[in-house]
Amino acid sequence: MFTSEINAVAICRTPYKQKFGIPRQPGLVDVKGYVELVPELNNLDTVRGIEQYSHLWLLFCFHENLAQGWKTTVRPPRLGGNEKLGVFATRSTFRPNGIGQSVVKLHAVVQRKGKVCLEISGMDLLDGTPIIDIKPYIPFSDAIKDAQGGIAQFAPELMPVDYSDLAISQIQNYSQNSQYQSLQPLISSVLAQDPRPAYKKAKQDPKIYQVALYDLDIFWQVINNKINVIELKPTTV
Ligand code: SAM
Repeated sequence: MFTSEINAVAICRTPYKQKFGIPRQPGLVDVKGYVELVPELNNLDTVRGIEQYSHLWLLFCFHENLAQGWKTTVRPPRLGGNEKLGVFATRSTFRPNGIGQSVVKLHAVVQRKGKVCLEISGMDLLDGTPIIDIKPYIPFSDAIKDAQGGIAQFAPELMPVDYSDLAISQIQNYSQNSQYQSLQPLISSVLAQDPRPAYKKAKQDPKIYQVALYDLDIFWQVINNKINVIELKPTTV
């Protein structure tokens, strides 16, 4: 039996404050985040030369799901939640070792509050996700022309997103603060993915949903196959 202790090398900082609503793969929503090296590795030498790569692989731990264990088969949302596939035939977040991997765009190496950080975009990671390794993306080998994508050959179809007058005026107010970078495009790209569980998409769904971005809760509903953003509220937790 192989055993090894794996520790986080960095923590990912993202606007995604809860699992619901995070894009299901990287590259679907263009928003910035940071990979912040842990104190033991907080040294520019560990990332020396990394700027020459446009993209990185992040290996990380699905830390919010570890306690729930895993199952041999899973029901991928892509199949409407009706069919089962083996855990290793999917990108399920419930896995024997709880490890995920995502390709993200690298923008810069920066220092934030004395911490060495990689400024990235396009991640599909919860804020606070432990990163267990960082590697350059190497196109000649990592990009496979004519690869078969199985049940996920193409990006999911996008839903149109509308805003109430209230939501528009709230977004205009929040956008005066630079901490809410590109707030409306972010909300639109996140909600256009239609984060609802697959079984909800089949029929009329009057439920009001909420996603947490930065420190805001965004309330929305699906009406006539359109996402309608109702209002924004500061997160209360
Ligand atoms: N690209 C990665 C992969 O294929 O291994 C992740 C794909 S996984 C389907 C993406 C989902 O993981 C997100 O939509 C979010 O709900 C969930 N997620 C992201 N970070 C997580 C974390 N730290 N713990 C548990 N779930 C997480």
